[in-house]
This record gives sequence, C-alpha cells and structure tokens, in this order.
Amino acid sequence: MKLHTLTALQLGEKIKKGEVSPVEATRAALERISQAQPDNNAFITTLADAALAEAEGVQKRLIGGEDLGPLAGVPMALKDNICTRGIKTTCASKILGDFAPPYDATLAEKLKGAGGVLLGKLNMDEFAMGSTSETSWYGAVKNPWDLTRVPGGSSGGAAAAVAAGECWYAIGSDTGGSIRQPASYCGVTGMKPTYGTVSRYGLIAYASSLDQMGPVARTAADCAAVLDATMGKDRRDGTSLAVKSGHLLGGLTGDVRGMKIGLPVDCFGDGLDGEVRAAVLAAAEVLKARGAQVEECSLSIMKYVVPTYYIIAAAEASSNLSRFDGVKYGWRAQGYEDLTDLYNKTRTEGFGAEVKRRILLGTFVLSTGYYDAYYKKALQVKGVMKRAYDAAFGRYDLLLTPVAPTTAPKLGESLSDPLSMYLSDIYTVPLNLAGLPGISMPCGFDSHGLPIGAQLIGPALGEDKVLGAAHAFQLDTEFHTQMPRGGDDQ
Ligand code: GLN
Repeated sequence: MKLHTLTALQLGEKIKKGEVSPVEATRAALERISQAQPDNNAFITTLADAALAEAEGVQKRLIGGEDLGPLAGVPMALKDNICTRGIKTTCASKILGDFAPPYDATLAEKLKGAGGVLLGKLNMDEFAMGSTSETSWYGAVKNPWDLTRVPGGSSGGAAAAVAAGECWYAIGSDTGGSIRQPASYCGVTGMKPTYGTVSRYGLIAYASSLDQMGPVARTAADCAAVLDATMGKDRRDGTSLAVKSGHLLGGLTGDVRGMKIGLPVDCFGDGLDGEVRAAVLAAAEVLKARGAQVEECSLSIMKYVVPTYYIIAAAEASSNLSRFDGVKYGWRAQGYEDLTDLYNKTRTEGFGAEVKRRILLGTFVLSTGYYDAYYKKALQVKGVMKRAYDAAFGRYDLLLTPVAPTTAPKLGESLSDPLSMYLSDIYTVPLNLAGLPGISMPCGFDSHGLPIGAQLIGPALGEDKVLGAAHAFQLDTEFHTQMPRGGDDQ
C-alpha cells in the first residue's frame, strides 16, 4: 500500500482500525525520507531508532485501549526552531549547531500526548529569516516539484517534506508568512492560527509579537486535527490564550452557504503574476458555486505592510538574538582575547549574512534618535492595520487573496536582491501584524507545472471559518491531492 499518498487523518483511521501499525507507518516514512532527502534536503536531523521506539510506545498505548485522538501513531516532523529535549535544535544556524535543549516545546509535548511520532527536525532559513529556505547553514532546501527551484521559506523543509510524502504533517513557524508561502510553493496546505492560540513556549523566538506555530499538511481537515491537538492556554507562555480547543475538525461541514467573502482589490494589482491571479479568482468561483457570496472590497493599508513588518520584525529579532553570544548556548568561537572579543568573534562567525542584516537593521531602528521615526511609527501603523481588518471583518466573514505574487523562483535568484524578496511577502505579513488566522491552500498550477496557493484570512479566533471554507474548497477540487513526480508512483 502506498501509505505516503494518504492524508494524516486517513492514516490515523487505518491505525485506529488496526490495518496499519504505527511502526509500519514509521518504517514507510523513514524509507521515503531516505529516498527524497538527497534530492530536497528537507531534514536537518532524522531520528530513525528513536522514531521506531516512539512508534512502538504509541502502539502499546493503543493496544492498552488509550484514546489518543485521530492522529495517534501518525509520523510527523518539526521545524528545527522548535525545542525538543535532548534532540539537536539548530535554527539552521552554525551558532546553535550543537544545541540540544533540556526541554520540549509545549507543542512538541502535546503532539507526543496525541500519539505523534517524531521523525526528525526540518530544514529552514537561518533563524526563520527568509522566504526561500536558502540561508540554512545546512544547505538550501529544494522544491520537490522542481529541484531547481526554492520550496519557499522559512518553513521550506516542512512544506517540502509533506509535498514529497516524507511525513504526513509537519509543524512550521510563521512570523510573516513562513508557513503559508512555502505551503503555496509546494502545493500543500498550511495554516497560521490566531496569535496566542498555540503556545510559543519552546519556539526559539524570531519576532515574539508576530511568531506563531501551525501545521503544514495535505488538507485543511488535517490542519484542523493538528490544531485541535495543539491549541490552548499554557501557563509557560504569557501571551497564550484560553481558547476553546478540540472542536475544529468536528466542525467541518463543507457548508459555506451565505458566507460573505471579500476579495480585496488592493491584493490583485500590479506585481501579481497573471497565472496566480487567474487561479485565485477561480478559487473564488468554486466557493461561490458552493453558496458563498463573493464580492470585491478594498484594503488600502496594503502599501504600508512590508515596511511596517520589516521594521518591527528586525527590531524584535535584534533584541531576541542578543542572547546568542557564545556564553550559554551552542557554538563558541576559538582564540578570543577577552569577553567582548568572544562576543564579536562568535557572532561574526556564527551568524549568516541575512541574520546579520536583520540584526543591524533592528539595532538601527531601535537606536536613540531613530526609535520614534521608525519603530514607534511602525507600531502606530500596526494599530491602523488592525483597525482596517476589524472594519473589513465587520462586513465579511473571510477575505481571499493570493499567498505570494509568483510561484516558486529558481534557486539562487532571490538572495542577491533582498529588497525584492522582502516585497514578495506582501500578502502574508499583514496577518502577523494584525494577529489574524490564515490558510494557504493549493488552487492550481502554472504553465511550468508549479503549484499556486490561495489564502483565506479570518477574523481573530475565526479558525473555524477559515478551515471550514478551505475544507469546502477541497471537497470540490483536487489540487491538494496532487503529488510531485516520484511522490505518488513509488
Ligand atoms: N519572509 C519573512 C521574513 O523573512 C517571513 C519569515 C517568517 O515568517 N519566519 O521575515
């Protein structure tokens, strides 16, 4: 049986019925990883023995009659900025190359509780800064649909691994689009939930006011199941919210009749590739045919979102990354003269170019004399954005936009021009600034055969609406069932 073509929930169902054991599923995944890893480099660490032992443990719990939920025994993988006890967690950086955290992230603990089997840690842009997964100290990730192209970023390993059938779901982090944009480039479904719904305890921080973890999987239903298992208040994360959890999967009815969906014209203007525009507008028609009301609307804040995001993200990054200095964590430079020299050498040698660029930019916008002009102004604009979305959600249940202006670019094309790479984050970053939930769902292919994604955006805590509409869309379309060549025929 081709287990890797199943969705996470389908595999979970087979495990529940005893048709497939967690150990068999884990063996199948490890086999797929050994085939695909040399091509796409999606993993930084794989855990063959530990994963098989974990699968055996889940098997015993199931035989013992424990009800672990719909994902019990389903193998998965975590982005390498999510702490896992005793397992290397590198953030794809030289500076954390040998860091093995002494604790698990709350999310990792919760997935273990739900019978998840951890296959390994996924490659990414260094410290989650980037849109292509090329800045990793462990080498670039490649797009399984076309190995000469990027998988998107920063959770490129997560999206590539799911697309190539190496795991049934993965967890990424999204500070400005890092779950949704790679999901779009790799033809899988990825969801950033509302800020605060999933505990960030154990997520190595990039920009704390924007960071959020969430699932990458084949379907919206799989994403719902993962969120059901991971959402909720955590006393170890003061920003986590006491939200109702466990209801999302059960709430997927496929019914979108009467739902009002806005198409912000400001997201369909200049700079958007024609094939992407056509595919996203066609997605709107599918939802319309199921009974949703779709109409154009305006979202005039779009022109401010990229500068606002990059000022806030860089400012918070420069502060968060000051803890990596060669003293407490990870790697330390050799041959230093005094403490300042130790800091200098460790950080000079330990961080890559993009991370240094963000630290410099962040330090600049926070410095005396520029703080008011840049950082404070950006926070004010962030408030304006939140109000603009509140107004939009007074009229609409959801908004529908592209995820990215183009499909996946070629490897090596983006890093030489960081500004245009930053600009390509335009459709994803506003959700992080406003704390809103959004999903990226496959909605077509371009003339090169590359996947295209559409983004559904909901009001804060509107996960049920976002997932409901994405699920309805997937009932009527087959884009999410496609796998890259070599993915479905082995
Ligand atoms: N591309 C954006 C950045 O580089 C988003 C990254 C992310 O969401 N982690 O900041």
